[in-house]
Amino acid sequence: MRQLRNNLIWGYYRFKYKGVKKPMKYFNEEHNLFRESLREFLEREVSPNIEAWEQAGKIPKSIWKKMGDMGFLGLSLPEKYGGGNLDFFFEVIFNEELGRLNSGGFVITQQVVQYMSAPYIYKYGSDKLKEKYLPGIISGDLISCIGITEPDAGSDTKNIQTRAELIDNQYVINGSKTFITNGVYGDFVVLVVKTESQAGSKGMSLICVDLNQDGITKNKINKLGWHSSDTAELGFDNVKVPKENLIGEEGKGFYYLMNGLQLERLCFLPSNVATMEFALSESLFYMSQRKAFGRTIDKFEVLRHRVSQLSSDLEALKAFSYYCCNLFDKGIYDVKLCSMGKLLVTELHEKISTQCLQFFGGNGYTEDYPMARMFRDSRIGTIGGGTSEIMRDIIAKVIIDDVKYKEAKSHDNLNEGSISHNSNFLNQENISSLEKSDNYDLSLALKNIINAENTINITIKQINQSDDNGIKKSSSQAIRHQIAQLASEIECYKQFVYSICNSLEIKENIEKEILMAKLTSIQLIDKVVSECFEMFGPYDTLEDHPLAKIFQDSKMIQISNSKRDLHANISKLIIEDKS
Ligand SMILES: Cc1cc2nc3c(=O)[nH]c(=O)nc-3n(C[C@H](O)[C@H](O)[C@H](O)COP(=O)(O)OP(=O)(O)OC[C@H]3O[C@@H](n4cnc5c(N)ncnc54)[C@H](O)[C@@H]3O)c2cc1C
Repeated sequence: MRQLRNNLIWGYYRFKYKGVKKPMKYFNEEHNLFRESLREFLEREVSPNIEAWEQAGKIPKSIWKKMGDMGFLGLSLPEKYGGGNLDFFFEVIFNEELGRLNSGGFVITQQVVQYMSAPYIYKYGSDKLKEKYLPGIISGDLISCIGITEPDAGSDTKNIQTRAELIDNQYVINGSKTFITNGVYGDFVVLVVKTESQAGSKGMSLICVDLNQDGITKNKINKLGWHSSDTAELGFDNVKVPKENLIGEEGKGFYYLMNGLQLERLCFLPSNVATMEFALSESLFYMSQRKAFGRTIDKFEVLRHRVSQLSSDLEALKAFSYYCCNLFDKGIYDVKLCSMGKLLVTELHEKISTQCLQFFGGNGYTEDYPMARMFRDSRIGTIGGGTSEIMRDIIAKVIIDDVKYKEAKSHDNLNEGSISHNSNFLNQENISSLEKSDNYDLSLALKNIINAENTINITIKQINQSDDNGIKKSSSQAIRHQIAQLASEIECYKQFVYSICNSLEIKENIEKEILMAKLTSIQLIDKVVSECFEMFGPYDTLEDHPLAKIFQDSKMIQISNSKRDLHANISKLIIEDKS
């Protein structure tokens, strides 16, 4: 039924379909059609109202109902509950199109519903709970929240104190939560509670709690950004909830959360990438109009180089984002990659909104231009959903301590054979074949990535060895985080180069992307080698140093490849030849 409705809706838009930019290998005609129809809807129904909703601090619920009627919600949830049963790239498009609106408050309201709370019910809830809540989530009638954080437990999730005691077939809940998105606005919360206070993480459970009942107090928090979304403190005073509202099994809440948080982090990637693309395109337009010293400001070298740098970083991150989403679509999501993606995308978002605001000069600081809102909205990225420090902690555990987080399944029909981690393309054979086909820039990029990866692996080995006092450098949190950051950047640029190699096969015109890969890989190897050298500490002679050869090679690469020239060429392709 739902599918039929979607077909009719998209069929109508097929008539109007003018074609999206360049077809990407992840998107087919149906995806493109869906994007067109969603974009048209958002431009008509949402964009003109965003400013008013930001000022009112509230989004009218009728808009979610309209989106539900159009079949835009619950895209990958089962048809049985009204969902679309569609692949994950429809969700990617959903996030990208919402991200383009440049309203973090609008995006997060529905992200919390679709990706941060409903999936726990869908994956672990009883049939009864699914029937009670999922149809409303998909039709846009219900707004949900996820209640983890407490006044005394944020990053340290295991330390939550909210208790749920089972008395006469009812849970009696006492405690408080804070920073809960949709807390005042929402209809129910997936609440994280302790059902056994002495059992640590094994005493945690998830319970669906309707928010309009006695014993619940709600206070809206005033905050820096995300003005259209509400963030609330919630108090629970002897709140009674039927036993059947427990999601899954008692004591498994922490395990469910660790699974679910990966999707939460993953959906930040496409939405943030799209917001950053919007920032750059708005900036380029502004720079092409604004004049200073007798010329448009997009003629100034330093601004052009900054555009080149930010665009290159963003293009790489977009490739990495699609790679992570593709793995999820194939059935797995990887704790390390989701954490790396969340770390990089939110850090870059903050940088891009700061630097793009700078392009607008004084106008950037006013509410008449889009950058002020983006600037304040982007600041939460490195905090919410796990801070950057916590992301680096998780990544370090995987790559330094070899902690194995079980790869979570995103859906049941996992096809292990179809999953490629793209790591095998880093080899000499591929470098030689790129050289043979005169792709010297790309072969250099590939070499740089291989060298960066070797450098980090050698360094991890070294810091895991004890010194004379029996202390390992890998016990230093500063070193661990530094390694985690470098390893994340290597993974990101690796997937960028890989995606370009793939595009070569389908003969796309990717001159700009190749230059970007060359630039970023040169910067990467320089950064990785310099920082790893420092981590090794003093050495008697440079010749004996395990990184000596890579160090010399990377310096030769810096000498023989001018980054200034690369920036000049990339910015020319972006600014002058953008047609
Ligand atoms: C607008 C907004 C919306 C939110 N929405 C929700 C929501 O819907 N549901 C929900 O449950 N929560 C939500 N949160 C809470 C958010 O997830 C937490 O703020 C976040 O996890 C950080 O926790 P905290 O604020 O308690 O900071 P803390 O944990 O107190 O951390 C403070 C600082 O110490 C650092 N730190 C902590 N531990 C370590 C460590 N081991 N090593 C190094 N540094 C460390 C942190 O990185 C941070 O910089 C929201 C927050 C905001 C601001």
